[in-house]
Amino acid sequence: MTRSPYSRSSFKSSGVFACQCCGHQTRESGQDDDRFCNPCVELMMMGNTLSDDGLENFLPWGPKARDQWVAKIAKRGGDVAKVRAFMPRLFAPEVAA
Ligand SMILES: [Zn+2]
Repeated sequence: MTRSPYSRSSFKSSGVFACQCCGHQTRESGQDDDRFCNPCVELMMMGNTLSDDGLENFLPWGPKARDQWVAKIAKRGGDVAKVRAFMPRLFAPEVAA
């Protein structure tokens, strides 16, 4: 393995990071936590909404919106299986369009 002149800290300062959820290398920063890419942050907020509003209020719009974000993550090479494992509540069998 070749030694890289770039240390971990200089990599960090470049603003690029791997999303903690889907693994996507991104420059984006989420609203509250810049360790996640935007679609993952959106999904997490959706998960909060599901907890707060309940399944009944979430079902009319939630699963469809969730699937759109998931498709976006998959399209750019994110690990959807990891995303699902990260927020099991949002991907529970009863949360379906
Ligand atoms: Zn992500």
